[in-house]
Amino acid sequence: MCGISAYIGEKEAVPILLEGIKRLEYRGYDSCGVATIFEKELVCRKGAGKIKDVNSKLKLFELKGCVGIAQTRWATHGEPNDVNAHPHFSENKEIAIVHNGIIENASSLRKVLREKGYNFRSKTDSEVVAFLIEDLIKEGNSMGDAFMKALKLVEGAFAIVAINRKKPHKLYVAKQSSPLVLGIANDGLYVASDILPIQKYTRKVVYLQDGDVGILTKSNYSIRDLSNVDVNRDVNELNEEIEETSIGNFEHFMLKEIHEQPKTIHRAFRGRIDNDTAKFGGLNISEKELKRIKRIILVGCGTSWHACLVGGYLLEDIAKIPSQVEYASEFRYKKPVLKEDDLLVVLSQSGETADSIAAINEAKKKGVKTIGLVNSVGSSIARLVDGGIYLHAGQEIGVASTKTFTSHLAVLYLLSVYLGRLNGSLDSEKAKEMLNELEGIPGIVSEMLKDSSKIEEVASKYFEGNNALYLGRHYNFPIALEGALKLKEISYIHAEGYPAAEMKHGPIALIDENMPVVVIAPEGRLYSKILSNIEEVKSRRGKVIVITTNGLEDGFDEVIKIPKVSDYLMPLVSVIPVQLLSYYVAKKRGCDIDKPRNLAKSVTVE
Ligand code: GLU
Repeated sequence: MCGISAYIGEKEAVPILLEGIKRLEYRGYDSCGVATIFEKELVCRKGAGKIKDVNSKLKLFELKGCVGIAQTRWATHGEPNDVNAHPHFSENKEIAIVHNGIIENASSLRKVLREKGYNFRSKTDSEVVAFLIEDLIKEGNSMGDAFMKALKLVEGAFAIVAINRKKPHKLYVAKQSSPLVLGIANDGLYVASDILPIQKYTRKVVYLQDGDVGILTKSNYSIRDLSNVDVNRDVNELNEEIEETSIGNFEHFMLKEIHEQPKTIHRAFRGRIDNDTAKFGGLNISEKELKRIKRIILVGCGTSWHACLVGGYLLEDIAKIPSQVEYASEFRYKKPVLKEDDLLVVLSQSGETADSIAAINEAKKKGVKTIGLVNSVGSSIARLVDGGIYLHAGQEIGVASTKTFTSHLAVLYLLSVYLGRLNGSLDSEKAKEMLNELEGIPGIVSEMLKDSSKIEEVASKYFEGNNALYLGRHYNFPIALEGALKLKEISYIHAEGYPAAEMKHGPIALIDENMPVVVIAPEGRLYSKILSNIEEVKSRRGKVIVITTNGLEDGFDEVIKIPKVSDYLMPLVSVIPVQLLSYYVAKKRGCDIDKPRNLAKSVTVE
């Protein structure tokens, strides 16, 4: 899931590379490194830790040269230490590579190379690529041919950039399943995992396709496919600038992003409400085709999967279309039965999630239309799907998603209204009322965010615990899951989310006076049911923290009040306190909130 940055041109490479991997740090941050060719030497510095720390310790910025490669890593194979950090050298140290992805047949390739007498330095899967290239060169191949042949031997997912000490005027690039973008500028060529590091230098980009292998010089490039045939790739003009984000007066990006939600929810529906329906610019699926849809399958991972769950409820409830929710990582392996009147809706913040990309490919193979609900403009998913709805939430930096979750909910609500109007399940008056209510949500969330003192107080009472249970029903069940996930991600407290009634089938055994139970219990259709579930917790002396719209003051350990909105829109409101609760608990515990251990913002490996 790492980030790759590379450059060949007239300028000093290292400032570009360091800035590049900083921008890609959301993809992983356990170690990093840089290699350049300078005065006929291949030089490299790398180490475990975040870029800022590694740079000040190892002085990466001192490296010179106009060609170089860099990576910020999220370890898949081999612990995040100095040796396993990228770049990796060939055994003879003539070649250096950076890799994003997983080489699935690395151990069998290593075995073959070991038998030939090679000795590996690291525990990574990636290093084998550099060794393979060396071996193929020894067999008489040119660097270009060896690079191509090595990639044919490799199975799995990769974006790779290589340099060879003896070819100081060339960069070798390849892509299979992991993203890689070229930026074409007057001073040279830029390479990166996404456009963030490139957009500052040029508006001209080439998105490499799976199986592309390229050789770059400072003023030119050629691309071939794995069967060694020249291919032409479009040069795209970037027309949208991804805005730079600063932390402002907030202590953490996560808190800033929680507070941005009135604005980002508004942006999700701005320009998309059309009297008694919604409208979208980029669906690229005709109304006739949409009317034929018999089933919607929503796929996502992590927080996006929770948004899918809310979406599934909304689509069935409002548009009356049977909807099912799948983990993207499971979808293609369960051999899904797909029909042409299905619609696949994929949710992703980054638009680079490997499993979601694979789910789209699976659906496309079977002739199923796909829609992407994505935040990152120009990302792999945005380019792959038949149609899309951007979230327009702006860059999300905190690894724990907050604002993109609520943006996803707002867009799913709009989509449900749109499809409901299209197929006649939703009448005009009701649709107007529903859209009107959505327009009021930013103001309501803004009011909620003005005072978080109660949530801070609850956090300071419970932050030392080891466990927590989150319960909710119907639309708020996914919010229970989301609350538990947020707490796990940033405070490392074990937490579980459950549909409140399901608790009786197991988790109730965990409840005693040391178990905080966060219950999302707004008034609504299942209010009386969830009150009974709360009684079940209380009877076992669990500590009950109720998030509710009512004046339920008595009998609970803590009450966090939220405003009353319709059931459909309640998740947009009820998620705010669970986001803040996890934030303040993590803060009390002194955790690295924006860069929690072991996580990465964008999961680009399976
Ligand atoms: N599999 C490689 C490693 O563990 C690259 C991982 C990644 O893409 O982040 O070093």
